[in-house]
Amino acid sequence: MNNLHCIGCGVAIQTDRPGELGYTPRSALEKEEIICQRCFRLRHYNEVQDVELSDQSFLDILHAIGNTDSLIVKIIDIFDFNGSWIPGLQRFVGKNPILLVGNKADLLPKSTNTNKLVNWMKKQAKELGLSPLDVLLVSAAKGNGIQEALAEIDSLRQGKDVYIVGCTNVGKSTFINRIIKTAAGGNDVITTSHVPGTTLDMIEISLDDGKSLVDTPGIINHHQMAHYVSKKDLKIITPKKEIKPRVYQLNENQTLFFGGLARFDYIKGGRRPVVCYLANSIDIHRTKLEKADELYEKHAGEMLQPPGKEELENFPELARHEFKLKDDKMDIVFSGLGWITLKEQGAQVAAYAPKGVSVLLRPSLI
Ligand code: GDP
Repeated sequence: MNNLHCIGCGVAIQTDRPGELGYTPRSALEKEEIICQRCFRLRHYNEVQDVELSDQSFLDILHAIGNTDSLIVKIIDIFDFNGSWIPGLQRFVGKNPILLVGNKADLLPKSTNTNKLVNWMKKQAKELGLSPLDVLLVSAAKGNGIQEALAEIDSLRQGKDVYIVGCTNVGKSTFINRIIKTAAGGNDVITTSHVPGTTLDMIEISLDDGKSLVDTPGIINHHQMAHYVSKKDLKIITPKKEIKPRVYQLNENQTLFFGGLARFDYIKGGRRPVVCYLANSIDIHRTKLEKADELYEKHAGEMLQPPGKEELENFPELARHEFKLKDDKMDIVFSGLGWITLKEQGAQVAAYAPKGVSVLLRPSLI
């Protein structure tokens, strides 16, 4: 039994404990391809069961990878670059070469300059202590850049195994499925899902030279917005297609609400445009700063949603972060929700996000 693994998520199969990881009814063992009940439900009923991978297990996995001689492919979600970053990866992987892949490029406006963006990623990676051999931009969902990624992986791995790492929800499974399809014309063999934290255990895919491509479970980055909203709301805040930047000409002392999830106060700096990059399905509501507290108090969960009324009870209060922008073209990032770009320096602003969700300032991505 120990040798049986789910073809979906790679977990070891067991038939004794329904409801626990890897459970499969005994009758299903006769099938050629064995799939755990969790993956079965996800695949056939689009139904997700919650599972958790402790941070320690993930660190153990990274340590294990550090002891191999392999190529590491690190996937990040370009829409949530900072939130999907795995801090300290360089330290764990030792001397192994790293390829950094930015996924979900299809979400960025078509006018985005890809070369500039790749350079931006290289610079950010360096500042965050990672030295990738190369940086690529792909859309695993659409297939853009996958041929190039495959060629690059093949050239960089020099006959070694490949470990694919990334935090949950960056599209790691989608990427691997895409690679398998492109390379072998095969069908999906890994489960993909909407909800973070659903890819468990390592799964190996054989490469033609006897080496393996290994899918690792995703780490849960606790400061991502995804962990503070319901599954229903997660669908609303996760962009599915090209983001249409929304521009607001703001006067001093004006506030923008992004649903009821986040808030931006423009305090000082003269009249100026701000550009909002969020899922098109999130409503933006403009008001006067002096009225903002009262508006949130009265209308959160209704006019200002998501979160809806029922979810509001378990939703953290909004925490305030104040910034003075000292450089031109800066982004204020609400991890996992999106960002706001301000072109000229000198603005004084406050950004609010649910307590626990990180808010940060960075050189503008676009
Ligand atoms: P994993 O947890 O990293 O394995 O991520 P999944 O492959 O399950 O994908 C997480 C979510 O991101 C799913 O809702 C996917 O449909 C979505 N996704 C994956 N790749 C892309 C992409 O290239 N573009 C867009 N827009 N969404 C993607």
